Amino acid sequence: MGRPQAPPPEPLPSAGFDSHCHLDLIDMAVADTLAQAAAAGIDRVITVGVDAASSRWSADCAAAFPSVYAAVAIHPNETAAAAATPSQRDAVLAEIARLAMLPRVRAVGETGLDYYRDSAPPQVQREWFRAHIDIAKQAGKPLMIHDRNAHEDVLAMLAADGAPDQVIFHCYSGDAELAQRCARAGYLLSFAGTVTFQNAADLREAAAVTPAELILAETDAPFLTPSPNRGKSNTPAQVAHTVRALAAAKQLDVAKLCAVIEANGERVFGPWPA
Ligand SMILES: [Zn+2]
Repeated sequence: MGRPQAPPPEPLPSAGFDSHCHLDLIDMAVADTLAQAAAAGIDRVITVGVDAASSRWSADCAAAFPSVYAAVAIHPNETAAAAATPSQRDAVLAEIARLAMLPRVRAVGETGLDYYRDSAPPQVQREWFRAHIDIAKQAGKPLMIHDRNAHEDVLAMLAADGAPDQVIFHCYSGDAELAQRCARAGYLLSFAGTVTFQNAADLREAAAVTPAELILAETDAPFLTPSPNRGKSNTPAQVAHTVRALAAAKQLDVAKLCAVIEANGERVFGPWPA
């Protein structure tokens, strides 16, 4: 990436985890990334696939490292490139469905809708999103959603198709009103480093009105490095800054919020092996 490393944050009062990152895209050996995160008290991560190859990679990584769980899916921006024909699409989805059943794959994601970029037509994105909703339900795994400029369509499709038992909005990007609608549906909001950005008062308001029991924290590393390290390369260790920003937005003690997020993670992704 060529960007300088962000310095390690002050460790959180108790061990925490990063609910969404891309270990394959971080410019460091996985073992080193995990060791650096553990030194900052972030001793578990969920690494997320965006296409068939990175989904396989994520599942393999989770099988190889006890502190890693995986999520598998075709990212909405990758849907057009993922298959040229309906039969290719079915084969790719069958592969995602197979991976989703693996014991260390703990979510189907990232999937959803992205109307900000135009790398895939909305209709194509919706077909794939619908298929992923189905895979999550069949596998009994949480659905990890990428929603960019597509809030209404994402909510409408979940309502129309019937949402899986656990739904997570990764890198939540809506306002307080949308957060309340998500909370009423029981969806979890995973906040990324964006909640620490100076111009993100709307995200902090969203965090403030979201019940702590529905909050997760993530880095989306190597993207979205939290303040005060914007411009430097992001790693799972940096989620500590995001947890502290969330605690401030919610006027909660950091240790208290850590305990709640830990319980949320166990409830949604299942317990981590000791
Ligand atoms: Zn991501």
